[in-house]
Amino acid sequence: MKPIAKSSKLANVCYDIRGPVLDKARQMQEEGHKIIQLNIGNLAVFGLEPPDEIVQDMIRNMPHTAGYTDSKGLFAPRKAVVHYTQEKNIRGVTVDDVYLGNGASELITMSLNAMLNTGDEVLIPAPDYPLYTASVALSGGTPVHYLCDEASDWMPDIEDIKRKVTSNTKAIVVINPNNPTGALYPESVLKQIVEVARQHQLIILADEIYDKTLFDGNVHTSIASLADDVLCLTFNGLSKNYRSCGYRAGWMVVSGEKKHAKDYIEGLNMLASMRLCSNTPGQLAIQTALGGYQSIKDLVAPGGRLCKQRDLAYELLMKIPGVSVVKPKAALYMFPRLDPKVYPIADDQQFAYELLAEEKVLIVQGTGFNWPTPDHFRLVFLPNVDDLAEAIGRIARFLEHYRKR
Ligand code: PLP
Repeated sequence: MKPIAKSSKLANVCYDIRGPVLDKARQMQEEGHKIIQLNIGNLAVFGLEPPDEIVQDMIRNMPHTAGYTDSKGLFAPRKAVVHYTQEKNIRGVTVDDVYLGNGASELITMSLNAMLNTGDEVLIPAPDYPLYTASVALSGGTPVHYLCDEASDWMPDIEDIKRKVTSNTKAIVVINPNNPTGALYPESVLKQIVEVARQHQLIILADEIYDKTLFDGNVHTSIASLADDVLCLTFNGLSKNYRSCGYRAGWMVVSGEKKHAKDYIEGLNMLASMRLCSNTPGQLAIQTALGGYQSIKDLVAPGGRLCKQRDLAYELLMKIPGVSVVKPKAALYMFPRLDPKVYPIADDQQFAYELLAEEKVLIVQGTGFNWPTPDHFRLVFLPNVDDLAEAIGRIARFLEHYRKR
């Protein structure tokens, strides 16, 4: 029989967060091994349940939400998103500018599909959340990575951004708060990015899905609030701030200068129509969440569960010889560095396999986030303090053996 091959469109598409190391972990679990999972930002499975008001609302709404809605979504939750943009000082947004999606992921892919022609370039941070690189490649565009600087708390390197802009650059992705580094960008950095976008007429794709997951009393600024004259697409949703990733409830807000973007917006509307609509119970959950009071705030406040877990993970990792990590200001992740002089890793996917096989701990290798060198990994600090201490203890033991090889 003729072999059935995947499309050549997938040639440069890669999503290692759910890649081959996870397949191996699943197989080990089926064989009866207990794996400590530090690989995915899935709050609910760590006992971080969604707010009760959202769950109750989902249950109440389920019998009445079996129908399709408008392609962009129901009016009331989109109106709730408009109010949210007002709280975040993003000006001039109407219900028409809000698209609801099955998670932010669907809207990120949709926005890039509607935007890119072959050879168009998109600036994406390194390290990144790999959906951006994958979606740009799938859309026929070319991902171009700009560096974030570990020595400056993982801030975007503005000079590197400027160097990498070409006449083909169409957009820049800004993930703030950042996955995988936990960085939170101050207004001064955001303003410099806006200035580059302004000068080169780039669209800003702002991923703000962790904008309430802030430690140490930090405050988040939406980049769109600083960019009235630049076209901005801001992505957000309930997956993290409201611990409801399984409800697949996300949104995209189009703001800033739209006069010259009518054709693009038509493209967005067309793709939104083609997928008919996002799931209706998830849409209504957005309205409930944004109108309610049960976000993630208590968990990230000093003494809150996530804050304690972040502090513990940081402290334990920093004690391991040859390991250093920038303490996250926000989000759910750390991106520790393994000093290459101490750990000469040639292939970090192999490193992740070996850690899994030897210690039953699942992490994601740094190159899975389009980090250029095999000297980092990402961990999620979602397990409770006992499991986290156990997992990092096992990582320390593995690294000790690694040093002695
Ligand atoms: N954006 C970032 C930066 C993420 O880390 C994630 C999930 O981990 C997503 C988007 C996906 O969000 P959603 O569940 O709304 O599709």
